[in-house]
Amino acid sequence: MSKQHIETQAARGGINIDQHHGAVVAPLHLSSTYSLKGFNEKRDYDYSRTGNPTRATFGQTVAELEEGTTGIVTSTGMSAVHLLLQLVSVGDKVVIPHDCYGGSYRLFTFLAKKGNFELIVVDQRDEQALAQALATKPKLVLIETPSNPLLRIVDIQAISAKAKAVGALVAVDNTFLSPVIQKPLLLGADIVFHSTTKYLNGHSDIVGGVLVTKDQTLGEELAWWANCIGITGSAFDSYLALRGLKTLPLRMARHQENAINVAEFLASHPAIEQVYFPGLTNHPQHELAQQQQNGFGAMLSFELKGGVAAVKALFANLSLFTLAQSLGGVESLISHPSTMTHAGMDLDAQIAAGISQSLVRISVGIEHIDDIIADLSQALEYSQQA
Ligand code: PLP
Repeated sequence: MSKQHIETQAARGGINIDQHHGAVVAPLHLSSTYSLKGFNEKRDYDYSRTGNPTRATFGQTVAELEEGTTGIVTSTGMSAVHLLLQLVSVGDKVVIPHDCYGGSYRLFTFLAKKGNFELIVVDQRDEQALAQALATKPKLVLIETPSNPLLRIVDIQAISAKAKAVGALVAVDNTFLSPVIQKPLLLGADIVFHSTTKYLNGHSDIVGGVLVTKDQTLGEELAWWANCIGITGSAFDSYLALRGLKTLPLRMARHQENAINVAEFLASHPAIEQVYFPGLTNHPQHELAQQQQNGFGAMLSFELKGGVAAVKALFANLSLFTLAQSLGGVESLISHPSTMTHAGMDLDAQIAAGISQSLVRISVGIEHIDDIIADLSQALEYSQQA
């Protein structure tokens, strides 16, 4: 049979794998431990930190969607990032983008301060700065595209090729788009990872992570570390995430359709200074996004005229949008990156990354577009008066 479409792969993740009872949906295995058949005769699983059937099914399904070999499910998105860092040793160099997720930035900078590795922070759109960073022969290059929260896009294929040429491993945070919209392993990356807390689960009711490798040996090495340091994900979260994953392509289609409408509405609104959304033709990397992505995602951010006072008035008057961290759930969320998602970055780093006090980030949900626009429209009137 020819390779299945992603809608089929997602909907059929774990279907019909139960050999014992013929359960159609992959069962939830909560047991922490598994009996041996006899002396030194192990079954497929022995202890749930090391391996769990429900977690394995979720990991394999994501690996299939990302077109990799091995899917390692972790307890959070941050533990997936931490797992990556088991690949580097004291003295190795690690290159990260200056505008990555605040929690990732915090982890990289604090571990580098402890001397675990040398950190090089660059604007990866700046070819010269990137070339200088790569000239130091790093062990690992992290890419996050679109970036959080300014939705900047970098060329995964070009950066991966340059990083490979100096012997670096390339890992891409694909949390903002999901494999429905972007497949970094097909563009030359070695590793792709997600906070499954976001789109993959899609219902804001778990925290989790997953890391997929292209190469099986690298996958085995990382799976070994995940067990060794004890950061594998729970069976119950894997069960929920596998359930959420089945509708991922459907959800992404609706998320994206709503997002382009919201971006266009905001771009023409007098209360707004600037909108950051790769789907708008005036986005500086609009063409690159068209090339490497299958759509533009549903995350956007914008600068309000009127500074923090305008932001406060907007937040106080929204009723459909929830003021909360996180993204990728079916419900629309709004946040203030400087004091929320990126509070882990000091103010200087925020300024260097272009995160201002009047920047607002939206995760566009799958509600009816008319209700989303109506809520934004009435609340923006208050922010204009602030
Ligand atoms: N990567 C990105 C792009 C994120 O937005 C987040 C969380 O917001 C993470 C990683 C970390 O994931 P988690 O919160 O599940 O640990």
